[in-house]
Amino acid sequence: MTCIDDTGTTPPEPQDRAVGTLRRDRVPARVRSGEKVLPEQARVHNRELLLRMLYREGPHSRADLARRTGLTRVSVSDVVSDLLADDLVVEVGTRAGTRPGKPAMMLEFNEHAYQAVAVDLSHSTLYRGAVLDLGGSVVARQQVEIEGSTGADALTKVVGLVGALREQATAPLLGIGIGTPGIVDLGGVVLSAPNLGWKDLNLRSVLTEQFGCPVVVSNDANATALAERSYGESAADTLLVRVGVGVGAGLLLGGTPVLGSRFAAGEIGHVVVDTGSERACVCGKLGCLETWLSTRRIQEDLSEARTDAEHTRVLAAAGEALGSVLAPIVAALNVSEIVLSGPHRVLEGPLAAAAMETIRQRALTEVHGDIVLRLSELGDDIVLRGATAMVMSQQLGIA
Ligand SMILES: [Zn+2]
Repeated sequence: MTCIDDTGTTPPEPQDRAVGTLRRDRVPARVRSGEKVLPEQARVHNRELLLRMLYREGPHSRADLARRTGLTRVSVSDVVSDLLADDLVVEVGTRAGTRPGKPAMMLEFNEHAYQAVAVDLSHSTLYRGAVLDLGGSVVARQQVEIEGSTGADALTKVVGLVGALREQATAPLLGIGIGTPGIVDLGGVVLSAPNLGWKDLNLRSVLTEQFGCPVVVSNDANATALAERSYGESAADTLLVRVGVGVGAGLLLGGTPVLGSRFAAGEIGHVVVDTGSERACVCGKLGCLETWLSTRRIQEDLSEARTDAEHTRVLAAAGEALGSVLAPIVAALNVSEIVLSGPHRVLEGPLAAAAMETIRQRALTEVHGDIVLRLSELGDDIVLRGATAMVMSQQLGIA
């Protein structure tokens, strides 16, 4: 299936937006104080404003949109004509008005007009991919066994997976979203992903050249945090911990993702928990959080547990390691909610309880209020849905 670029519409260039962040209002960000807003910038701004309202709040009439946004009826009609032409909005019938006159035609965001290819590289044995519509529903799935691949071999598998998924799309593609472990800059360069054997890999450029589609690459934990914010129930100040082949965190403060000066905010997996430990990490150090908490290491430890009590001790030790890393973050930032994302059978129970207990012991929780630690309810597709939200954020200014 072709990309949105081939349909005659002209989405903004990928570099126009901060990748992985929700720059909901990109026009004012470009306009300096006192500078005149160009008509074209105002048009893009108005388009995103109306689209966001329809996407988040459901059907509105043109008159509703004008009233809610303060735009003139003429401006609303102009923008709506464009959105109808792009198939991003559809007319869904009339609503009888309370006043006499013609009933109002209702407009709805069209979730089915475009699709996104999303890939999740955060699992230890598989790369998971899917084609999703703009409502976050899966249209098609495909996955590929990793079989120990790293470096160039891993990249070949990812390119093959994206290509296969692209063939399964049944609507024009809005873009390709990738959630990967590791540190990713705003340009989609994977600066470092030890688990995949990637260093300074310009993944966005590779995929853009290969497929001619807009591509967004983001850290898997940041994609997960965005999915929780877009589709889940997360609070505005949330620390999301993603447990998979590695361990990372995505941080939302006031609903905005925090990426850090070197894009490595939330890289908690390689914080050393125990300086006396002999547990070797993929990064070369000893005693990193990942050596207790990555899904691979937990499975290894559990396979050696002979009794239920030992089983519980393994999980509690992983939870304690996590809590000891999270406590200073909670203390420094006063986040109100911690969301764990990963295999529920591992995370729930002794692991989550030990993590919470350790945070209580190590941080002044009475100062920080009632901290909630819960498991994400978005299931195995959370990174795929986050990757779709990234594409929508970049291409449409919504999600
Ligand atoms: Zn490490």
